[in-house]
Amino acid sequence: MTDPGPTVPEASVKPSRLVVLAGPTAVGKGTVAADVRKRHPEVWISVSATTRPPRPGERHGVHYWFVSDAEFDTMIERGELLEWAVVHKSARYGTPRRPVEEALAQGWPALLEIDLQGARQVRDTMPGALFVFLMPPSWDELIRRLVGRGTETDEEREQRLDTARQELAARDEFDVTIVNHEVHAAAEELVALMVLDDEHPFDH
Ligand code: 5GP
Repeated sequence: MTDPGPTVPEASVKPSRLVVLAGPTAVGKGTVAADVRKRHPEVWISVSATTRPPRPGERHGVHYWFVSDAEFDTMIERGELLEWAVVHKSARYGTPRRPVEEALAQGWPALLEIDLQGARQVRDTMPGALFVFLMPPSWDELIRRLVGRGTETDEEREQRLDTARQELAARDEFDVTIVNHEVHAAAEELVALMVLDDEHPFDH
């Protein structure tokens, strides 16, 4: 994980196939990405590194690379992260750069499911990417989903709602908005945006 290895030549990367999925906390980005993972093996999905501890059922290398603060520092120092951010003022999350470059070089449509701060960084470094914003059907529904998950303390939940308010305001920065009425439908909308033939790259 800490060995940067050889990097893929810039020219072989197909940035038009990189899709960045962002949206407010608890909107269901992770669930939508999981649905894509299950039904669309032709889509490559990035596994982020994080300093937060695993939740029950989460597996190292599948849901996240669970790393220590020191390991995360090393990844930053070595330039191994395409982007990274402190999310909800608690843990750090980042996208390992090399697997993304390799997936793109091999022509895989690649999906990053990251927060808004990370999406903004990727917009600067990978300007050809397509940016997709996942919206809740309503603010009330977002709160219901946030409370319904029940894995956070009151303080953490308030922090997440705060982040969500700021993130909802950023919708206009994105190329496409998908409303998450239902997970599978949202996942299919997302995949339809990703699986394009080379003759018709994203026109932005
Ligand atoms: P959770 O802790 O609930 O799995 O994720 C918290 C938030 O971190 C989510 O909004 C998720 O999109 C974001 N996140 C996950 N991986 C990354 C990453 O690699 N980079 C950034 N910037 N955010 C991430």
